[in-house]
Amino acid sequence: MTTIIDGNEIADSIQTDVRASVETLTDAGVRPGLATVLMSEDGASETYVSMKQRACEELGIEGSHHEISPDASADALFDRIDELNADPSVHGILVQMPVPDHVEKRAVLERIDPVKDVDGFHPENVGRLVAGNARYKPCTPHGVQKILAAEGIETSGKDAVVVGRSDIVGKPMANLLIQYGEGGNATATVCHSRTEDLAEKTRQADLLVAAAGVPEMIDGDMIKEGATVVDVGINRVDADNEKGYELVGDVEFESAKERAGAITPVPGGVGPLTIAMLMYNTVEAASLQSDVPIDLP
Ligand code: NAD
Repeated sequence: MTTIIDGNEIADSIQTDVRASVETLTDAGVRPGLATVLMSEDGASETYVSMKQRACEELGIEGSHHEISPDASADALFDRIDELNADPSVHGILVQMPVPDHVEKRAVLERIDPVKDVDGFHPENVGRLVAGNARYKPCTPHGVQKILAAEGIETSGKDAVVVGRSDIVGKPMANLLIQYGEGGNATATVCHSRTEDLAEKTRQADLLVAAAGVPEMIDGDMIKEGATVVDVGINRVDADNEKGYELVGDVEFESAKERAGAITPVPGGVGPLTIAMLMYNTVEAASLQSDVPIDLP
């Protein structure tokens, strides 16, 4: 029987732990604060930001939201980041990507104080992650690790194949999988758009993490019998319903579940974990900046 992994249930359990840490901090006079910054009118980005703000509200984290017109100068965004860096009530800063073309993404990531960089994208935090001394693990790959832990899926010694080499998912995912310790010790292969014979690679995988952003590109035929399949992809495809679209993953679920030992669905798989891990990183950030210890598993 294939296990269909319930990401919402795992995220709920993490949020229970996060809520307890929020209480510890608040009792000590430190209310964790997360600032989200949006410089775009993209509907999906607006949805992501409002989901993050809603999660803050539910957990007792002080959320503040900042909108910069996409027509404004890069300096308008940088000035706002500087203000948030200097604000002691803000422990985490998240600039929702993408930013407009006239704003250099790299400069944005480098502007955020690394201690407040709860996405974990600042080069200092990337370096620490690679060195095995992460300050904040990027939310999506960290969420994948939490899924594997919750399901008791062993990674040590296993062949892991990550499809996608982005800075936010593929690269940090592969890095986490090869670290020493729990959720690591795997042999990781990173595939991408230039990989020749992708199926030959994915068929070797005991653990397959799909993060390519290509709807249903991986089908059952590309999956090893009994493998764990984690589908990070969230793709909007046209559908004959009220919204006019539906969300599908990078994995063709119906055929994949015939081969996989365990599989995450889309939606309801990795997505809820990404938000939960952002909240997790925010309370970690508040603890770090206030010297109030918390006990987050
Ligand atoms: P990205 O576009 O930055 O990177 C995609 C990667 O996939 C690239 O490295 C590219 O080389 C690779 N790729 C593209 N086409 C390929 C192909 N045909 N074969 C092999 N590799 C290919 O995307 P991203 O930001 O890493 O996101 C990937 C997907 O995950 C998207 O669908 C995105 O919406 C989703 N996502 C989900 C969450 C979540 O919370 N579940 C979080 C972040 C991203």
